[in-house]
Amino acid sequence: MTGSPLPPALRLSGVTFAYGPNGKTILDIDALSVESGERLFLKGASGSGKSTLLGLIAGILTAQTGEIEVLGENLPALNAARRDAFRAARLGVIFQMFNLLPYLPVGANVTLPCRFSARRAKAADAAGGADSEARRLLSRLGLDPAEIWSKRSTELSVGQQQRVAAARALIGRPGLILADEPTSALDFDTRNAFISLLSEECEAANAALIFVSHDGSLADHFDRALDLSEINRAMERA
Ligand code: ADP
Ligand code: MG
Repeated sequence: MTGSPLPPALRLSGVTFAYGPNGKTILDIDALSVESGERLFLKGASGSGKSTLLGLIAGILTAQTGEIEVLGENLPALNAARRDAFRAARLGVIFQMFNLLPYLPVGANVTLPCRFSARRAKAADAAGGADSEARRLLSRLGLDPAEIWSKRSTELSVGQQQRVAAARALIGRPGLILADEPTSALDFDTRNAFISLLSEECEAANAALIFVSHDGSLADHFDRALDLSEINRAMERA
């Protein structure tokens, strides 16, 4: 180990984004930073651009202007194939729904990132192997790995599916987890338990977390909370 600090999870500046050349500007953000290991809650009304912003940070969408540095990597400088590889290796992504591959059993869903990325396979190997790490994460997230390992995701409740999706995002120690309203389908108690566990596991893995939701009551679970309307100048004009 060298003493050099880890690069920030996110440094974003001067970013503007529209869907298509004649589309209206959805995002116009002067600056947004997330430190290494920091857990940020980003609140925003429906349609305010939360998913779009996560798409830019994940390198699924590309901004018209601006700098987006993720875990020290300058995303706009990478071509699409390298952005895909970077996402698979360095990010864990949890979506609102459609998280899991329905035709794969739970175990294969959770270990999938290790098949797409040698870096994550290596990190999981260092922790005892992909299967054993998957089982550890599933039980940390409150599931019984023995019971669900061979089940298809269609046999699980929504709450169980979200925990499986979180285990898949966390496996192989990615530096940044992006969570897009992953709790909107969960009831109050399940939601709070899920966020606490996700947050604890991010802390244990030293992963930064950017969690977006329209539900401001979740903010207390995080190191810092921000309203997208405070930083998105496109909304003032809308
Ligand atoms: P949120 O996740 O906060 O609900 P989104 O980022 O999904 O907001 O959407 C922000 C705005 O961008 C909305 O006005 C939405 O209609 C528009 N939008 C989202 N996806 C697309 C798309 N693929 N093409 C065109 N407009 C889109
Ligand atoms: Mg959304």
